[in-house]
Amino acid sequence: MDKNCIFCKIISGEIPKEFAFENADIVAFSDIRPIKPVHLLIVPKIHITDFTKLENDLILGKIRIAILGLIEQNKLTDKGYRIVVNGGGAQAVDHLHFHLTGPWGKAAEL
Ligand code: AMP
Ligand code: ZN
Repeated sequence: MDKNCIFCKIISGEIPKEFAFENADIVAFSDIRPIKPVHLLIVPKIHITDFTKLENDLILGKIRIAILGLIEQNKLTDKGYRIVVNGGGAQAVDHLHFHLTGPWGKAAEL
């Protein structure tokens, strides 16, 4: 828990938020500025600042399972989704989170 962290405040309930998913380790909620009809943030409850600081593969596995469930629930399985982690200074919020967005068309061929 970092008392200056907006996601820690959401996780603790200090900032009210409806969760699309919650278990002992993870929450998911809608992004406040969605870029697609589905735009969820999947967030470990523990305050980890950046993907490179994530040393716990158990948490990573639990995030994977949470995201799989959310893909299915939001009917994105065959509709085109993206899972994005901004880090290394590209992120606005310094509490690790995975963006799940969709539906997307096929990515342009490189
Ligand atoms: P990033 O650039 O990966 O750190 O993205 C942070 C994301 O958090 C942005 O897409 C914001 O719109 C989103 N965000 C910031 N504050 C909130 C909030 N209070 N509730 C939901 N999403 C938020
Ligand atoms: Zn935090």
